[in-house]
Amino acid sequence: MVNEETLEADVLYVGAGPATLASAIRLSKLAKSAGRTLNIALIEKAKSAGVHQLSGAVMDPSSFRDVLSDLGVEDPNLGTRVGDDHFYFLSSTQAFKLPFTPPSLRNHGNYIISLSELTAWLAQKAEQQGIDIFFGFPGQEILFEGDRVAGVKTGNKGIGRDGNRKSNYEPGVKIRAKVTVFGEGVRGSLTKVLVSRLGLDEGRRAQVYATGLKEIWKVLPEKHTLGCVMHTMGFPLGSSTFGGGFIYHAKNGLVYLGLVVGLDYEDPTLDLHGTFSRFKQHPIVRHLLEGGEMIRYGAKAIPEGGYYSMPRYWGDGFVIVGDGASFLNSCRLKGIHLAMKSGQLAAEAIFNAIEKNDCSQTMLSRYRDLVEGGSVKHELWGVRNFHQGFQSGLWGGLIQFSLQILSGGRGLFENPKIVEDHLHLGKVQDDIKGRWQHEKIVFDDKITFTKTTDVFRSGTIHHEDQPVHLHVSDTEICRTKCAQEFGNPCERFCPANVYEMVEKEPGRRELQINASNCVHCKTCDIKDPYGIITWVTPEGGGGPDYTGM
Ligand code: SF4
Repeated sequence: MVNEETLEADVLYVGAGPATLASAIRLSKLAKSAGRTLNIALIEKAKSAGVHQLSGAVMDPSSFRDVLSDLGVEDPNLGTRVGDDHFYFLSSTQAFKLPFTPPSLRNHGNYIISLSELTAWLAQKAEQQGIDIFFGFPGQEILFEGDRVAGVKTGNKGIGRDGNRKSNYEPGVKIRAKVTVFGEGVRGSLTKVLVSRLGLDEGRRAQVYATGLKEIWKVLPEKHTLGCVMHTMGFPLGSSTFGGGFIYHAKNGLVYLGLVVGLDYEDPTLDLHGTFSRFKQHPIVRHLLEGGEMIRYGAKAIPEGGYYSMPRYWGDGFVIVGDGASFLNSCRLKGIHLAMKSGQLAAEAIFNAIEKNDCSQTMLSRYRDLVEGGSVKHELWGVRNFHQGFQSGLWGGLIQFSLQILSGGRGLFENPKIVEDHLHLGKVQDDIKGRWQHEKIVFDDKITFTKTTDVFRSGTIHHEDQPVHLHVSDTEICRTKCAQEFGNPCERFCPANVYEMVEKEPGRRELQINASNCVHCKTCDIKDPYGIITWVTPEGGGGPDYTGM
């Protein structure tokens, strides 16, 4: 019998991303300034700092400067200052450069960074401040005392695929804390449980998402323009699907290239990875990539709902920071600075609550007051109806967006109804406007790659002998209803070839889950039309390796 261990902390952070690390650093500084010692612990499912962190990423450096000030250190020069900004409309063969860049996409003063690199740097600094970071420890279960969050239990290790304990079995650890900070990133598995159990989204609009697919390329030197930022709209998405492309020329001759696709798309035959491949086949993109080498691949969901979709992000014994609470400006394609800022403000509220020896919902509501009373609310309020405006398609969205700029964010409609992404999915038989044309893509292994090759470049590794971490509650639905109605869209919305319908016996196709391919993007948890897929944390240490992404 192996006993469960229980640890105590003053504050427990779940997830090591920019929001939690900036928060822990601010909290540590506040404690030191007050001559107090706080026991701050942080658990992270990845094997080391930053390896699960993926973003575009062009960063607004405002909150990072606050971190530097908290630490009293110089700017480590992690990024490349943005030089030129370009915005293109793509048809299938042409690229039309807009004579101006929309104000929200102007990046003067911002930096092209690797989020993974930034996170690793923040984690190193946090550890130097005495913050304990436990890598390879996913949060598996929230410890509740009534409706109060009392901490988190980490995942067990050494459980086989059959559910039995292996020789290396280690039970999870219960970590009890006065305040638990959920910073699991987008669609966090514990945050999802928390929101649902406590009704934190009551009276709020549904959260909606996009998925971003990204590659890093080493391009030919003559094609590289350090600091150049380019955004695109149009091809390959058409006018009824929200999203666009990005190309950022980073340091060391690297180009960060990606496509973001709104998950409120209707066409069940749309293939996210295939769409990204088409983007790379566009002449302007192909020209950039020819002669270069693809180095890394990754994918990640992005919260798009904005201000009206934010759940209540504080409660008895807990706060939520970063993407998990929708601190992201989808109009600017920026979330890192808001994630860090949310963490810093949360730290101030937490420190105040601990000082008063009262970590109740009432006391932690100071976090909301700080958010509402400052720059975060100001920024999110100005774009509060942005994504909703595009529900009527690209052209309607652009008109609404123009009106929102003129009316301080209101546009034609204030807080219009918005429904969850999976409810937008049409049936295979439906006559869907702008249907994805299923011209088979031939992957040339030079510009376009199969999902298998891309997953290999994501560095993803999971132990094969562990329980499947994609829980499908009724696989009979996959074989019958879903096959008929939606044509098993999981095979196409998963960018990592995790879901495959395979013929196990003549005439009988069944779902096969290649869980070890999973790049932790969370798209399946969001877009599955029947709501039967639940993503849970796999054994600690597994997953993608986004070093440098
Ligand atoms: Fe993303 Fe789900 Fe596929 Fe994993 S299984 S890569 S979370 S869509």
